[in-house]
Amino acid sequence: MANKSLTVSDDIVVSLDYTLRLDDGEVVDSSSGEEPLQFLQGRGQIIPGLERSLYGMAIGDEKDVIIEATDAYGELDDDAFEVVPRDMFPDDLELEEGMGLRLLDRNSGEPVEAFIAGLRANSVMLDFNHPLAGETLYFHVEIAGLREATSEELDHGHVHDGE
Ligand code: ZN
Repeated sequence: MANKSLTVSDDIVVSLDYTLRLDDGEVVDSSSGEEPLQFLQGRGQIIPGLERSLYGMAIGDEKDVIIEATDAYGELDDDAFEVVPRDMFPDDLELEEGMGLRLLDRNSGEPVEAFIAGLRANSVMLDFNHPLAGETLYFHVEIAGLREATSEELDHGHVHDGE
């Protein structure tokens, strides 16, 4: 339900088309060919630096937004590296530097993502930083749609599809 007089403000449902590049120009994410990203503005559902930059935009408005790592996925955390024995992994798993792994956190039992930062004969260095930690993000965004949130969405704090 598009409404031309709406602009991005708190508790508005925003549909956002975006392209995300790193400082070398590489595109790492984009809504192109997919549905726009939908979220409730002002509820911290997207990275803070991007959310802040959208206030006041209307449908069809576009802009370039540069977001420093601290306002995006954070600085690279030196404490987020961990060396584990290689025999923690199955023998038939071919380990490679840069490879992403899904592991279970030994404390919480929750799945966590890690990347292989280094390989030795008997050990593996895992990097638990977000893949975009330490990166300045270069977004190009366009407001694809805006609508008032329903009272149910406001209660739940998130967008319901198909409304
Ligand atoms: Zn809900």
